[in-house]
Amino acid sequence: MEEKCLRCGAGCCRGLSIEVCGNDDVPLDFLVVRNRAFYMRKRGDHVTCIALVDDKCSIYDRRPQVCRDFSLDNPRCLSLQKRKRYV
Ligand code: SF4
Ligand code: SF4
Repeated sequence: MEEKCLRCGAGCCRGLSIEVCGNDDVPLDFLVVRNRAFYMRKRGDHVTCIALVDDKCSIYDRRPQVCRDFSLDNPRCLSLQKRKRYV
């Protein structure tokens, strides 16, 4: 895992709607359906992805493609990094 990610506390796994596509292999009980689309279920706080455990992805090998594609130059990531002042 990237050093920045270790310090970030998995900011990208909170507060985002993570859409799951047809080719993804996410376990079904981690999913919720909204408007005919699949999304990662959230914890009771309605913010945190259900798969996030101790700031790590508990389904890392089966995480959605959108999570695989999320990179350190993503605007949301850069904004989180700036807020935490380590860019
Ligand atoms: S928001 Fe960015 S720095 Fe934080 S965990 Fe996600 S990819 Fe890493
Ligand atoms: S599936 Fe894993 S990487 Fe994707 S948002 Fe949830 S905890 Fe984060």
